[in-house]
Formats: sequence, C-alpha cells, structure tokens
Amino acid sequence: MLNVLRPALFLRSVYELDFKRLTQRGIQGIIVDLDNTLVGYNRPDASEQLLHWLATAKSQGFRLCIVSNNLSARVEEFSRHVGVPGISKAAKPRRRGFWQAMALMRTQPSNTAVIGDQVFTDILGGNRLGLYTILVHPLEDREFFTTRLVRRIEHMVVTRPERIGVRGKPSAPRRR
Ligand SMILES: [Mg+2]
Repeated sequence: MLNVLRPALFLRSVYELDFKRLTQRGIQGIIVDLDNTLVGYNRPDASEQLLHWLATAKSQGFRLCIVSNNLSARVEEFSRHVGVPGISKAAKPRRRGFWQAMALMRTQPSNTAVIGDQVFTDILGGNRLGLYTILVHPLEDREFFTTRLVRRIEHMVVTRPERIGVRGKPSAPRRR
C-alpha cells in the first residue's frame, strides 16, 4: 500500500536529472510539477538555469508538459513564458491531469515520467498510473520542513524526557 507513495527516483532538484538514463528507460515524455519544483511557490519568472534545462530536455527529444494544481492564470502565464504546455487545476493525485498531459505529449504511462516535490500529489498520482516517478526537494520549503522536524524533536525532548534519558520535568507547553 505504501509503495504508491514511494518515488522511483529521488533527486535534490530537476538539475540532477540524467536525461540519458531516462532515454535508456524508454521515457519520451516528462510531466513536470510547477510550484516548488521548477520555481518557488507562485514565483513568476524562470531562471536562466531553468530555461536552459527545459531547452536541453527538448533537444534530447523529450516532450514536456506542466501539470499543476494551481490556478489557470498562474499556470498559463508561466507556461507561455517558458514555452511548455501546461494543465492547471489538475487536482493531483487525481488521474485526469496526467492523462491530459499524456494525450498532449502523445505518450503512454509506460514511457512517461513525472517530476514533482510532493509525495501525496505528484508521486501518488504518478504511481497510480504506473508512471516513472521522480521526487525532488521542494525549492522553498526546505527551511519550513527543517523547522517542523526540529519542533518534533523538541517536542519529544520536552514531553518524554524518560525515553531519551534527559532528566528533569517537562515544563514547556505543547507546540504544534
Ligand atoms: Mg509542487
């Protein structure tokens, strides 16, 4: 059951993607998430690095399609800006947006990859269809994630000192 949440590949960012390996796997189309995968959340502009990455993908023969849960205006504007088709309000992990993207790229689940930063939308949705799923670190949530992790550890230390051998009584209120 948990297998549907597991990506086939985990990368720090899209820039670590090895296009040759994808080709060797028979991948011809790449569905890409937008927010926190290509650019930060609601950021309008693509960096030179991103434009170069998209151009490289195309020159290696890949068809691309952005599939985002964000609103039409946001996705359409970005899509036009970078010259890659986009599907908005996809409601990932629902399958509809993925199918629309594959129809646009003229690919099948067996030769399509999906790249995104969220397990419960990008990876779950992709795995449900049998796509090659690639998880990347979210571009702007790193600090937030770390903060949350630290909070959890703090919480354990404060409320369950006996478990980790810390002496003294819990004094701080619960932080959630
Ligand atoms: Mg995202």
